Amino acid sequence: MKRGRYGRYGGMYVGEVLVHALLELEEAFKRIYPTEEFQREFHGLLRDYGGRPTPLYYARNFSKLVGFKVYLKREDLLCGGSHKLNNALGQALLAKKMGKRRLITETAAGQHGLATVMAGNVCGLETEIFMGIKDVQRQASNVKKMVLLGAKVKPVKAGAGVLKDAVSETLREWAACSRTTHYLIGSTVGPHPFPEIVATFQSIIGEELRKQVLEKEGRLPDAIVACGSGGSNALGAFRPFIKEKSVRLYFVEGGGESRGAENSAAAFQLGSPGVLHGGLMMVLQDTWGQIRPSKTRAAGLNYPGRGPEISHLCEVGRVKPCYALDHEVFKAVRMMCRTEGLIPALETAHAVAYVLSNPDEFDPDDVVVINYSGRGDKDVETILRCERELNTP
Ligand SMILES: *Cc1c(COP(=O)(O)O)cnc(C)c1O
Repeated sequence: MKRGRYGRYGGMYVGEVLVHALLELEEAFKRIYPTEEFQREFHGLLRDYGGRPTPLYYARNFSKLVGFKVYLKREDLLCGGSHKLNNALGQALLAKKMGKRRLITETAAGQHGLATVMAGNVCGLETEIFMGIKDVQRQASNVKKMVLLGAKVKPVKAGAGVLKDAVSETLREWAACSRTTHYLIGSTVGPHPFPEIVATFQSIIGEELRKQVLEKEGRLPDAIVACGSGGSNALGAFRPFIKEKSVRLYFVEGGGESRGAENSAAAFQLGSPGVLHGGLMMVLQDTWGQIRPSKTRAAGLNYPGRGPEISHLCEVGRVKPCYALDHEVFKAVRMMCRTEGLIPALETAHAVAYVLSNPDEFDPDDVVVINYSGRGDKDVETILRCERELNTP
């Protein structure tokens, strides 16, 4: 990697006022991350607070259904119910070592906001979360949890009152107070060095996975399937395998109701390279370069950009970009519930759906790992409502 670049993607497309904060962060990460002290504290938190290592579960009944061996890397068992805490703990600890007192971030569905305030509390930092006013209303129960945990939640009325407006507001706030405050970005997106930092903290998933599959199967898997938007759970799982050409890597994005540009979040199918929130990446945009809103019922996949590293890996053919449509996703939820007794997050169900809907991609003697990014407790209402709408119980 050239500095901050993955092929042609990445970079640091920000106003001058933020350059200093980004360079300070880059320098601190390089200096602090490799130290024995940081490694010990970070891995201690992942283990004793987060509950790592997460198991690699052989899904026997699901395997029988699809006709090849499927393992689930159980990030749903991480404290908080998804992979997001890996990155939140890493960045909060880094911020503390940098002498910061306060974390800020944005969140749409609230999952990243929750992970941030958890990590902030563990590391003794104040947490303030910017949320579009519409999202504050839509996600009332997660807002209550964040407030209970002690976060300040700041509703953003500007623009359309959604995630992109909250991101702009957080960047403005960071420019004003980066001396005391760290912006804890939640996925492998944003300007350099964020995509690199987030992927590094999430790589714990793939490092464990590699050891676990070697123990259980005596060989590397044939395929790893992960859902994503920015790409953090996917890259976390993929990174230790990128040089292993025998391991096929699949990235599944939100196809929405159909592939039409108005009701999809499939930026690899419908997007093109453009600048979003400080980095060059694949984005949904119109012919003027204005960002188009994405649409999917999985809140965590509802972002119009794909981070620079996953954009590059798909462009050079190392990762296969795929998508799953809503009706396939709800069917996958049912299948996972009935075969294994697990309710997947709607995001995670996209990876499950791809495996179910594309049997031709896999051989009977394949060992396939699904990165099972999160649990679906947060989605139960949506799942039941959408099943009624789509009439596919
Ligand atoms: C947020 C989220 C995602 C998508 O984010 P990535 O950064 O692309 O991984 C996927 N699954 C779950 C459960 C999430 O909460």
